[in-house]
Amino acid sequence: VGQWWRSLAEEHPSIDLRTDRPHTARIYDYFLGGKDNFPADRVAAEQASAAFPNASLAARQNRAFMVRAIRHLAGEAGIRQFLDIGTGIPTSPNVHEIAQAVTPQARVVYTDNDPIVLAHARALLASTPQGRTAYLDADLHDPQAILTAPELRETLDLSLPVALSMIAVFHFVPDSDDPHGIIRRLVDALPSGSYLILTNGTADYDPATQDLAVAYEKQGITVRLRSRAEVESLFGGLELIDPGVELVHRWRPDAPDPPGLTDAQVSVYGGIARKP
Ligand code: SAH
Repeated sequence: VGQWWRSLAEEHPSIDLRTDRPHTARIYDYFLGGKDNFPADRVAAEQASAAFPNASLAARQNRAFMVRAIRHLAGEAGIRQFLDIGTGIPTSPNVHEIAQAVTPQARVVYTDNDPIVLAHARALLASTPQGRTAYLDADLHDPQAILTAPELRETLDLSLPVALSMIAVFHFVPDSDDPHGIIRRLVDALPSGSYLILTNGTADYDPATQDLAVAYEKQGITVRLRSRAEVESLFGGLELIDPGVELVHRWRPDAPDPPGLTDAQVSVYGGIARKP
């Protein structure tokens, strides 16, 4: 365990990182090649990789989708405000870096419920002088708490369009938690012309993804892979923009795929929809 987290712990004495058990944010960080993970996370990540060896590749493709999606919204779609829920450990480029590179006035509110993301919030908060960023420690199961939080209200104007990004987080939300209701409550608070960006792992192309889900379950983490139709239904009532719900590497690629990349390896759906 390196110096990085000891200094974080000193800065945030009240934050309990619970290093004894694996966290999705830190497992994902490990898949992306980050250093913000602990032995329990690495054990979980290795077990997941043993089940589905493409987890790391899929995570990178998911991240590349995020870059294209945010760039599109900040650019062509003219969006200036972003609410990112399930932010993860800062990994450059983060949402505000992508959006503010296109439009320096962009405002971004980041939300996550993991203490390690909170501990890193300062790194996330380095906005352009023209724009603004804020961090909110909250759980997506409580949309009302997110929507009424001062961090959000002081940063975003909810009478103007907002892009709500929830990338690689709904596969941790089982049906019994009413994902449709959570999304509806969030989207209902946003005006017409707002957007929803979402990605979710799928078992449509590779049965090994089910083994990955089982490996997570064994570590106490619920995983709900979703079919294309199920992911489409999460966008219910919204207008999916071209090409609809697609595997993330097939969603408006800006470069040719790495040689040999297959749908089965990626196994993550993504999409963007507009609120009419
Ligand atoms: N959106 C980033 C990170 C995905 S990792 C990306 O796609 O690159 C999933 C993140 O969702 C983790 O940081 C995890 O802590 C967060 N998360 C999981 N369940 C959550 C919940 N109920 N509320 C808020 N965040 C949650």
